This record gives sequence, structure tokens and C-alpha cells, in this order.
Amino acid sequence: MLELQISEVERARVSSELEVQRAYFSQLFSNSPEAIVLLDNTDRVVDANAAFEELFQYSLSEIHGRDLNDLIVPEDRVEEARELSERVLLRTPVDHETVRRRKDGTLVDVSLLGCPIELDSERLGVFGIYRDFSVRKEHERHLEYLARYDPLTGLPNRFLFEDRLRQMLAKARRTGERIAVHFLDLDNFKAINDTMGHRAGDQLLQAAAGRLRETVRESDSVARLGGDEFGVLQTGISDAVGATILARKIVDAFSEPVRINGRRVPTAVTVGISLSSPEAGAEQMMAEADTALYKGKTAGRNRFEFHNRAMADEVCEYASIHRELHRALEREEFFLEYQPQVDLASGAVVGCEALVRWRHPERGVLGPDSFIKICERSGLIGPLGEWVLEEACRQRKRWSDAGVPDFPIAVNLAAAQFRDPRLAEKVVDALDRSGLPPSLLHLELTESTLLEPSDALEQALEILNRKGIKFCIDDFGTGYSSLRYLRSFPFHKVKIAREFVSGILDSSDDAVIVDAVAGLGVKLGLVVLAEGVEDGRQLDFLARCGCTEVQGYHFSPPVAADDIVGLIRAWTGNPVSRAV
Ligand code: C2E
Ligand code: MG
Ligand code: MG
Repeated sequence: MLELQISEVERARVSSELEVQRAYFSQLFSNSPEAIVLLDNTDRVVDANAAFEELFQYSLSEIHGRDLNDLIVPEDRVEEARELSERVLLRTPVDHETVRRRKDGTLVDVSLLGCPIELDSERLGVFGIYRDFSVRKEHERHLEYLARYDPLTGLPNRFLFEDRLRQMLAKARRTGERIAVHFLDLDNFKAINDTMGHRAGDQLLQAAAGRLRETVRESDSVARLGGDEFGVLQTGISDAVGATILARKIVDAFSEPVRINGRRVPTAVTVGISLSSPEAGAEQMMAEADTALYKGKTAGRNRFEFHNRAMADEVCEYASIHRELHRALEREEFFLEYQPQVDLASGAVVGCEALVRWRHPERGVLGPDSFIKICERSGLIGPLGEWVLEEACRQRKRWSDAGVPDFPIAVNLAAAQFRDPRLAEKVVDALDRSGLPPSLLHLELTESTLLEPSDALEQALEILNRKGIKFCIDDFGTGYSSLRYLRSFPFHKVKIAREFVSGILDSSDDAVIVDAVAGLGVKLGLVVLAEGVEDGRQLDFLARCGCTEVQGYHFSPPVAADDIVGLIRAWTGNPVSRAV
């Protein structure tokens, strides 16, 4: 009995204690400045405190029993919210920074603490505490912004500019496009700042930023690098001409006065340009653009300047030749010259190389070195190469018809032509159309062509070789990876590069190279021809090395087709005896 009395007293005490504790927790829940929500195990709202109601603008009655994800979780975060609940229900508390949506649709940055809570003896729920930290986040964003942008003009700063340049250069290395960095400086900023005040100076900088933004394409970036210096990052160009066009546009954009405090203030800029090369780094390009800008300013302001004038000229020249080349074929401005190849022992003409020239309407006759590379890069080598082939075959046939002895004609093929899967077909067509037997056609390819072996190359060599066309390796000795090819393909002739032959009398190195290269050709059973023989004194040495054919100014420069006939008639005797 006594026991029973004690336990009832005890129960009353415990119950009252529980009551007190519940009141504490209830106050803690209700009065907490943190927004607290209680969810069941399906994310439905069981309870929420006043701070939660205030933060998310919902009253408890509006959200009670509803899925919280439908209410305050932005669509792109629903997945994340569900995962967080699952983690909590597996009794792993979460501490997470995220974004939630208020009733009026506005977003708020929150930190979210979630922990498991037993709703009753059977059900586990989620206890979520949200803290609004949008102010801190805003502050962080502002700091981030200041680290990368200029607050006065809203443009990226030097740091971000260089970062973008780095990314663009990495991309350009993959795509092969080029990038220009333009640095520009307002020519009269200091004067305006000093005479009209800093406010006016600021307005000028803002106006300059606006003009630059309007002048460049969307894919280009404009930045304020500091003071009155701006930078433009130009992408997607192939040469200095593209950069020049933009630089000119920038200079022109500043030729119009800027309106400051109701006054029209004349402005001008100087631009310094650096153009990327495949190995250019961001820091180097920034330094080059800076140097170019400095050069531009000392040379007289209101203008643009390339970092490297020679490069600029070269690329401008490239662009103009490129444009003109397109018309040159239509206007039949190309023609061929022929250089005889002579048998060293007998002095007889044993071959003839066709070399293309361009009769340029203004520049006069241009040699292939000034346009073949441009043709290769622009794809024009295809049609030009076909024309050379056709013309060379026709000419050889005309000689045959006129009784000129049957020595083969050699035609140079560029590496790019071997990428054309129809090359073999085109060569055969040219032979068919001219009526020239394949044995009278030799094709010259350089060692660099063999550096990039491909199926198309191997197939073309196979097919044409089977037809009876012979192949010669041109400029032999300037590359080295062809040795494997030399073995695997039945080449007919190697032509030792002029650059070595020209040095055999003066340089022991060149003499050794020619000797070794000729020896290699002989051992492989090839005809060895020495190119660029200018001096008769070279002939003995070449003969001793195993060269059997020679070609060069000593015998004849490349000449017109008609002159070949005359040369052949005039030449008799051993060419060695013709030495000076
Ligand atoms: P290549 O095939 O090695 O041609 C020999 C070059 O050396 C020619 O220059 C020729 O004029 C020059 N040469 C010949 N003998 C001497 C000499 O004794 N001394 C000196 N200093 N030079 C000599 P060219 O005509 O300027 O041709 C240059 C290169 O252009 C050629 O080198 C060839 O690779 C390329 N080329 C010429 N015509 C064509 C063509 O129709 N198609 C292709 N793809 N390339 C061509
Ligand atoms: Mg050649
Ligand atoms: Mg050569």
C-alpha cells in the first residue's frame, strides 16, 4: 500500500517534471530565432516555428501536412533536398549551405542543419534548422566580384582577363585558331582627370568601357586592366589581318568625342597588339601587348601597333596573297618552268623537273616558296596541283611529239595532295587526257610528306606505282623518319637536298652528310640525284659519293618549255668538262 502511494507520488513528480521540460522545449522551439521545421519521414510538415513562418512567409496552417519540397525547395534543388532527408533518416545529421524559396518566389541563401528526431515510438522524422545567411553570401559574392571585376565600369579586371586568356589559348592550341590581345590606353585621360576632375575622369572611363563593348563581338572579352588601360581579348582569327580590322575599329570608335557633363570631350586611343603563336603563353602575350602599346604611344598615339612589325607585315602579305591566289587560277596566271636533270657520267639530259611560277599582275613573277605554303593551308593546293600535273603531262607529250628524247618529267606533290583520296585517280586522268605514258611521269614528294604516313598516302603510292609511275624523295636529308619508308616502298630516286649540296666545298659537315645520304641511297638501290649544283667543282665529289644525276644552275636554271629543246640540242659531252 505504502509502495503504491510512493509510486503515485513519484509519478506525479515525474509528470510535473516532464510538463516543465515540455514547456522549456516548446519555448525553445517557438522562440528560437532560428527557423525550425519538423518533418515526418516523407518530408511532410509536422510543425514549424514562428521564425520559420517569418523566413519563408508561410503560416503553419498553410503548410501543415504538406510536402516541404513543394513549398520552399527550388525545382533544381528537389533532388538534393530529398537526398538530405534520406541521409538524416539514416541517422546521419547534415550541415549544408543551399538555396530555398520564399512564398513570394524570392530565393534565400540558407544554411541547413538537419538531424533525426523520434516523432513517436515508431516514427523517425527530420528536425531542420534554417539560418538565413543571404547577407553574408551577398558580402562574399561582392568580394568575389571585386576580386575579378572593376566596380567602376563593371568590366572584368586584369586577373580575370588573364585567366580567360589562358583558357582561350588552351582552346586555340587544340583548334589551331589564333588569338589577339589588344591593350589600349586613353590618350588624353590624364589631362581630362586633371582639368575636369575625377568625376569627369570616371565618366570618361565608363564611356570608354561602353564604346569598347559595342565595338567587339560577343565572343571577345573587354577588361579594364587598371587606370586608363583596357584590354580586349579577340578570338577566332587566323592572322594579323583579323586583329588589324578590330584594332582599326577600336581606334575609329574613339574618334568621336565623349559627352561629359554636357561637354563634348575629344578622345583617342592607342592600341598595342600581340598575336598568339602555338607556343605563346598568357603572360608572354600580355607583356608583348604592353610593349606594343608602349611602342605605339612613343610613335605618336591614336594608332595601333603590333608587337612584332615583321610578323604583322608577313601575315598581312599572307592575307593579300591568299585573296589574290583565288583569282590567279581563273586568270591563268600560273605557268611552269623546267629544269633539266643531267646524267653525271654522260652529260645527257635524263629528266626534267616542272616548277610552278605565278605571274602576278603587280608583283611580277613569284616563285613557289612565296605561295605554295599558303595554297597548302588554304586548300588551294588541290586545284593548283591538278593544274600543274595536267600542264606538265601535256608539255611532256608536246616534247615527245616534237621529237625530244624520252626522259621523264618530274612533278612535285605537296603533302596536302596526298590527303586527297582521289589523288591516284586524278594523276591517271591527267595521263589519259594528255596521252603521256606513265613511265614518263615521276612524282616528287618531300620527306616531310612521309612524316605523316596515312592510308591515303600508302594507297596512292601503291596504285600509282603499279601503273608504272616512279616516285622520288625530294630534299632528302632534311628529314629522318623516312628511312623505314625507304625500305617498305619501292622508291626510284632520292634527291639530296640543295642545302647540303651547296655546302660540300666549304663545310666538312655537309660533305659528310652528302656522302652518308648518297651512300644510303646507293645501298638501297636507288638513283641518287644531287640538287642545287652550282659549281662544277662539286661534281667530282658528288660522283665519288655515288650520285649519278645532278640538277642545278651549273647546268641550267629552270627555263621555259621551248628553251629545253634548245638546251638539249646544244649539250654534248661530259658535263664535268664544262666545269669552270
Ligand atoms: P624543289 O622541288 O626542291 O625544287 C628545286 C628548287 O631549287 C627550285 O626552286 C629550283 O629553282 C631551285 N634550284 C635548282 N637548282 C638550283 C641551284 O643550283 N641553286 C639554287 N640556289 N637553287 C636551285 P623553286 O622553283 O623556287 O621551287 C621551290 C620549291 O617549291 C620546290 O623545291 C618545290 O618543293 C616547290 N614547288 C615547285 N613547284 C611546285 C609544284 O608545282 N607543286 C608543289 N607542291 N611544290 C612545288
Ligand atoms: Mg622537287
Ligand atoms: Mg628539292
